[in-house]
Amino acid sequence: MVENQELRKAGLKVTLPRVKILQMLDNSEERHMSAEDVYKSLMEAGEDVGLATVYRVLTQFESAGLVVRHNFDSGHAVFELADGEHHDHMVCVDSGEVIEFFDPEIERRQKEIVREHGFELVDHNLVLYVKKKGA
Ligand SMILES: [Zn+2]
Repeated sequence: MVENQELRKAGLKVTLPRVKILQMLDNSEERHMSAEDVYKSLMEAGEDVGLATVYRVLTQFESAGLVVRHNFDSGHAVFELADGEHHDHMVCVDSGEVIEFFDPEIERRQKEIVREHGFELVDHNLVLYVKKKGA
């Protein structure tokens, strides 16, 4: 199973909760899930994994570099698989929906601004808080 390989590659032992949670993250349409989201989805799929276990496993995944945790201002932390290209996020302040975007111009300008201040860019995390137009 692909999840077993992913776990081993990340230096984690293969356990049932880890496999189930990784599968959930791999197969979910929603790329950004809170621990509660993961827990609910597992319950709906008839999997018996407790919320405390979900929290613990997600934290282990984060330490192992399998997932990235985002602490957006609105609500609780969300997790996404650390498999993609760099992107930034916008978060709807009403619904909590998370939208990914990438803008080469913004990326370029950030590097320029940092350079103008005598630094080089190591990392960045841009979050735009938004709401639906007219709502
Ligand atoms: Zn994302």
